[in-house]
Amino acid sequence: MPKINVLPKSIAELIAAGEVVERPASIVKEAVENSIDAGATHITVEIQRGGITYIRITDNGCGIAGEDVPKAFLRHATSKIKQAIDLDSISTLGFRGEALAATSAVSRVEMFTKTADEDFGTHYKIEGGEEVLYEEVGCPDGTTLIVRDLFYNTPARMKFLKKDVSEGTTVSAIIERQALSHPEIAFKLIRDGKQTLSTSGDGKLASAVYSVLGREISNTLIPVDLAFDGVKVKGLVCKPVACRASRAYQFTFLNGRYVQSGTITAATEQAYKNSAMVGKFPVFVLSVEIPFETVDVNVHPAKTQVRFSDEKRVFTAVYNAVKNAILTGDTRPEISVTQPKHNTFLHMTTEQYRQTAVSLPVQETKPQPKVEIKPEPTKPIAEPVRLKADNTPFFLREEFKPNVPENKTVVDIAKEPVKEISAEEKTEYMPQQVEKEYSPKEEIKLIGEAFNTYIAAQKGESIFLIDKHAAHERILFNKLKSDHIIESQALLIPASVKLIGDEYSAVVNNLDLLAEYGFEVEDFGNESVMVRAIPAMLDKQDAEGIIIEAAKNLAEKGNVSLERIDDILHSVACKAAIKAGYITSDTERLNLAIKVLNDNEVMYCPHGRPVAFEIKKYNLEKYFGRIQ
Ligand code: ADP
Ligand code: MG
Repeated sequence: MPKINVLPKSIAELIAAGEVVERPASIVKEAVENSIDAGATHITVEIQRGGITYIRITDNGCGIAGEDVPKAFLRHATSKIKQAIDLDSISTLGFRGEALAATSAVSRVEMFTKTADEDFGTHYKIEGGEEVLYEEVGCPDGTTLIVRDLFYNTPARMKFLKKDVSEGTTVSAIIERQALSHPEIAFKLIRDGKQTLSTSGDGKLASAVYSVLGREISNTLIPVDLAFDGVKVKGLVCKPVACRASRAYQFTFLNGRYVQSGTITAATEQAYKNSAMVGKFPVFVLSVEIPFETVDVNVHPAKTQVRFSDEKRVFTAVYNAVKNAILTGDTRPEISVTQPKHNTFLHMTTEQYRQTAVSLPVQETKPQPKVEIKPEPTKPIAEPVRLKADNTPFFLREEFKPNVPENKTVVDIAKEPVKEISAEEKTEYMPQQVEKEYSPKEEIKLIGEAFNTYIAAQKGESIFLIDKHAAHERILFNKLKSDHIIESQALLIPASVKLIGDEYSAVVNNLDLLAEYGFEVEDFGNESVMVRAIPAMLDKQDAEGIIIEAAKNLAEKGNVSLERIDDILHSVACKAAIKAGYITSDTERLNLAIKVLNDNEVMYCPHGRPVAFEIKKYNLEKYFGRIQ
């Protein structure tokens, strides 16, 4: 029978150290947290060879009193908690009293530290857990911790370290998170003698984000700031159009600590639903504050996992905060017009310009043959429009019904030159609801439409180009979502539709839900369905197309029923919306522009494509050289 031994202290320390110190980054994380807990406003981290051979962390925090220094390196030695009850309300980053002990067990550690009250500081050295030096020294207030030769006494663990570069990158990631969660602290990171990060410590999150994530990302961010049901949510999130292909730029801080929280990530991503493209993820730096006693951070030694006592409350608060930020803070994507390079005569005097003109070779002017100008054959203004199966032109559909005065027809209005519509006329032309909701708002002037697809309108100091299909689709989608009533129309001849694998099962599994939204569909077996009725707003001729669209949308996403409803509404809105290329009248264009530009809910189509682009007058003036 094997004999049971009580392990010597040194071996027990090594085993415990394994939990806390996995790699250089773990040491850096713990040490920087200690500096933050010590109230430092400047923290400099220097590493060599990814931190494997050398780590130095210098802070200007409170320091450790001389007599306490050896104690700080003992296991379970901490100044941060005294009794078990304190564990329920942890406000400091550290609390387990393990980091210094664990670090010194597996490396050579040196510390210089001094409190403001002391005349002298302390110089302390401890290697493999054994004290080797303890002396008074002259040094500035604060603490410098130097860690050399990680795992020098545990070669087996050294083998698990990655290449220097990748260990260094992990250290950088730690510092980046710390810098983002503490904009009031000036951080510096020096890697192999080169400064790779420096934050100003001016207290502004935007400054820290600028230093860490760079200018390009910073420019796409909008502020979040909302307290909801006792949960404070603050930070920056990207505009939906700037979502990324990965989750690499997502940072969550809970009560000042970097955490990975599925709840907070899901709530944030949910707020982007129907605004961001499928498969893209938001960039965010969110700081969530909740009462300390409602969260358990002591789930994992690395303290990045957390448990909430009320998940739903946190989810709702984060969702509302982010959604609110997107609705109020998002602006339409801008088309930037850069100034052309060859504007030479802008920098010349008239005299200089004349001289260049004189020096140009004079071209002999030959008499031009006379060209007869034939008038272009006149085209009818209103080209044939695509009709719905019930013969209603799309522009007479309810949601687009222009308010045509009795003495005019729709074609008359289409022929009218584009003009600025006065306040009185507006009442005449616009549906009442639009007038009621938006008349306090800035005037919107229709400029025209290009390629029967892009409506150009002017509002304030900007021109907007609106994709009319995307815009109409979004407006219909919002309306369907808020009304939740879709009238059904029976098909005279039911349509049999063949679907493929996933799409077939997605439809068959959601027959009841489809029925609620105006679709009468039966499983016909053999991967086909029989469609007997579709929403009344859709073209009967296209029953097959709409079922295929709904099937595709349903098959693409998860299992949440709310999402499935959205998928069906997307499909209906997409099929019912006017298409690019259709002819629209000025009244319709203006109404669409008004709805789009006065409603921040109409920012992206339900698939996440932008509905409108903005061109600022200021940029145009720069482009044309009117201003410098
Ligand atoms: P913990 O942070 O969990 O308390 P540590 O082992 O990380 O445990 O640190 C032990 C103690 O040493 C801390 O409680 C703190 O009092 C002190 N300490 C460590 N680093 C610093 C520092 N940079 N500045 C001031 N005090 C420090
Ligand atoms: Mg600590």
